[in-house]
Amino acid sequence: MNARRDTRGPLGFQQARREMVERQLAGRDITDQRVIAAAAKVPRHIFVSEETVSQAYEDHPLHIGFGQTISQPYIVALMTQALGLSRGERVLEIGTGSGYQTAVLAELAARVYTVERILELSLRAKTTLEKIGYDNIDYAVADGSVGWAEHAPYDAILVTASAPEVPESLKAQLADGGRLVLPVGGAYSQILKRVTRKGDSFVTEDLCPCIFVRLIGKEGHGDA
Ligand code: SAM
Repeated sequence: MNARRDTRGPLGFQQARREMVERQLAGRDITDQRVIAAAAKVPRHIFVSEETVSQAYEDHPLHIGFGQTISQPYIVALMTQALGLSRGERVLEIGTGSGYQTAVLAELAARVYTVERILELSLRAKTTLEKIGYDNIDYAVADGSVGWAEHAPYDAILVTASAPEVPESLKAQLADGGRLVLPVGGAYSQILKRVTRKGDSFVTEDLCPCIFVRLIGKEGHGDA
């Protein structure tokens, strides 16, 4: 599985992953043991480039090309925890990126539908995820700011890029009781929010400040 090598070798990656989980996740406020187990299992180093592989388990985002990033491990865990997955859910992810967050979701949900606007990133993520055995993921290359109506409703929706406001299409594609977690705000400061659907009403909670790349598209920040 670990085709990628740096001077650490596969055992070094395992050790780095263990330390990441202990210090950056459990050592902070990640308490959902299923999220902890998923982060301990997914080999983050195979989702990053050769140039950054030695930093794969460090406490910060990394560049993945095309002006995009793989999110910090803690943010991936925090957003996943906020979705409150208990197995069996159908989850929509907007912003496949490297596919790392997709893998964490695929560990915890029945099926993941992931949308990415950059073809090359989607293809690369699909190749990586299939190579390590995930077969519960559907991929689309499209403007995910309007969701993926074909498979709606979703029990949970995760957006990994920041929107100027909560996209109405995503709210409409939530199942009753479903949770939508996303960053909302301007270019340099955003708030991570959770929107929970209760019938025709939506309850919004502010979780924490954060910084993400922009959600491009019709219900995002417009065209690139
Ligand atoms: N979660 C990803 C990971 O683990 O690597 C990181 C995602 S990165 C922070 C945000 C991604 O959202 C980028 O790959 C970007 O191309 C994508 N994106 C931005 N706007 C989008 C849109 N309207 N539809 C789909 N993807 C979009």
